[in-house]
Amino acid sequence: MQRRRFLTTSTALALGAPLTSLLGRSGPRPLTSTPIRNNVGFYTNRGGTIGYFRPDGGVGGVVVDSQFPEPAAALLEEVYGVTKRLDLLINTHHHGDHTGGNGVVAPLAREYVMHERARQNLETAEAARTEGEAVPLPKTTFAKDWELVLPEGNETVTARHFGPAHTGGDAVIHFENANVAHVGDLLFNRRFPYVDPAAGGSLTNWIAVMRKIRRHYDRDTVFIFGHAAESYPVTGDRADLKSFENYLKSLRRYVKKEKRQGTSLEALKAKTVTIPGAPEWRFGERLRDVNLEVMWEEI
Ligand SMILES: [Zn+2]
Repeated sequence: MQRRRFLTTSTALALGAPLTSLLGRSGPRPLTSTPIRNNVGFYTNRGGTIGYFRPDGGVGGVVVDSQFPEPAAALLEEVYGVTKRLDLLINTHHHGDHTGGNGVVAPLAREYVMHERARQNLETAEAARTEGEAVPLPKTTFAKDWELVLPEGNETVTARHFGPAHTGGDAVIHFENANVAHVGDLLFNRRFPYVDPAAGGSLTNWIAVMRKIRRHYDRDTVFIFGHAAESYPVTGDRADLKSFENYLKSLRRYVKKEKRQGTSLEALKAKTVTIPGAPEWRFGERLRDVNLEVMWEEI
């Protein structure tokens, strides 16, 4: 229900289906937390991938994104057990499938943080809420970057905004020692991405954002992705970033060329199966039309 609301309030595009079906999920996945390295792992259940840090002593911890109330509670139980004092809850952006469980996690966390535009987007979404659980707004925001050295001193978390892309308030959350970076919905692994122009998103600027991210982190960085096509992983490396950047570039080139040739948007949507130059992006086809429509508007 929150996903449905998220969809109807965050875009003027008439998609006509709940996001659950747009994202191709038929039901909840088995509960799963997967270690990556140095106490950092990811959790997939229902909604955008959660990243987490669980310190050795079991006291404190960091949660990046929260899906929905039930999976957030299940994550706390599964990863942190009875010790539920966290150092930080931080979000990659405001969308309901990433912040819906904040009401469960935020009261346990010493700090609750998101990008200033993400907070603004969340405030707008909350004002329009008609159902589901309210999501509290964070007290702490940042414009460019933000950092927290964890009390144990063995991990530093940084958040950085690279410019408008999926929304106007996207941030990459980096566990520096583990060298794991959660990019949220800045990368949809091998599926057509969702983009939210009403919340400040831009497909065109997204290309530059991907290039900046690729240059800012390094060869060894493990990236956590918000979503992936069925059977594709929710983690990857710089090569995946490069591939997605190529998808966005190819989309822009394709729409520009077709528009110049006089193809109508309707005809373009009708004939497009994959974007020339990026054939591996072929899943989640309900969002393909959104990609074409938004890029059409931007050119
Ligand atoms: Zn999103």
